[in-house]
Amino acid sequence: MATTIVTFHLIGRYLEMRAKGKASMAIKQLLNLGAKKGILIRRGEAIQTMKDINTIVFDKTGTITKGKPELCGLKTFGVTKKELIQISSSIENLSEHPIARAIVNYAKNEKISLLKVKDFKIIRGKGIIGKIKNDKIIIGNSALFEENKINLDMIEKEIFNFENLGKTTMIIAKNKKIIGIIAISDIIKDDSKKAISQLHELGFKTVMLTGDNKRTAKAIGDECGISEVIAQVLPDQKAQKIVDLQKNGLVAFVGDGINDAPALKQANVGIAIGTGTDIAIESGDIILVNGKLTGVVSAIKLSKATFRKIKQNLFWASIYNVIAIPIAFFGLLHPMIGMSAMTISSINVILNSVRLKNEKL
Ligand code: ADP
Ligand code: MG
Repeated sequence: MATTIVTFHLIGRYLEMRAKGKASMAIKQLLNLGAKKGILIRRGEAIQTMKDINTIVFDKTGTITKGKPELCGLKTFGVTKKELIQISSSIENLSEHPIARAIVNYAKNEKISLLKVKDFKIIRGKGIIGKIKNDKIIIGNSALFEENKINLDMIEKEIFNFENLGKTTMIIAKNKKIIGIIAISDIIKDDSKKAISQLHELGFKTVMLTGDNKRTAKAIGDECGISEVIAQVLPDQKAQKIVDLQKNGLVAFVGDGINDAPALKQANVGIAIGTGTDIAIESGDIILVNGKLTGVVSAIKLSKATFRKIKQNLFWASIYNVIAIPIAFFGLLHPMIGMSAMTISSINVILNSVRLKNEKL
């Protein structure tokens, strides 16, 4: 009887230890495999949640697109091209938005010098304002101009044409008079289309969330095949949109941290683009080191494979115990045999976890 009790006790202790060991073995493999694929997991829970996600929301600029916009068109009204670029780049030089960089770089290439700017102000998600000499300059989107009661009729068609091609247009006014428009093109990343179509095949709903206007957003959305586009969302409303989408299930958000860190935090899983900002990396649960969107698909596959492995490991661990415990209980199993059964089950678990390495992501 004493033998039975000792065996029973030993089996109980090992069972408990191994249940923990099993999960950590699979998770260790997962971290290694993820790191090799450029997926860093900052919060282990995220991998657990990932397999239950049904909607994946993407930021546009810097996430679906390269985030390196280039000036691709411009139109002037009553000023020279040089004047328009000089005024715009002087003000944009004080902004950190990717749009700003496009204009400043263009001015640099054209060797256009910058002017002194006073009273600079950022109107988040809309544009920027500043003073050059004594002229008040406004640069931004239609919403900013409507707010300032500046009529856009004369340029509306031109703006629509650019936007329908997926370009973002900026309108420039000097003392409330429109002096030009500048179109910016930010092309989609090489793998955006592939990542979205793979997510659809896996049964996910995809959404693009952006502060940009509806037409540009739709053109980019169509190009990469995303199922839904939510545009003209101000930076501080992005997290609220995630809350709305969470009414239909768990949501993952993929962003680069420019204007979207609160959304990264609000989502059930925040996936940060590693080439984005520091704040994205701090807010994200999972980091896609090389910025590739197909990393999202890999992270999902990794999550599913890990949980399959953990379940299988627990199954193999318990099957030996289910057989061994009753036998041991009736005193029919020598403690040495009990221990061997445990060793065999552990070896099986190790082999099974190692197989995670060969998982195709
Ligand atoms: P996204 O969600 O695509 O990253 P944002 O919320 O950062 O977009 O910006 C939304 C829109 O506000 C831009 O598409 C642009 O029209 C306008 N905007 C923002 N910053 C600037 C800027 N520095 N200069 C001109 N326009 C700007
Ligand atoms: Mg962005």
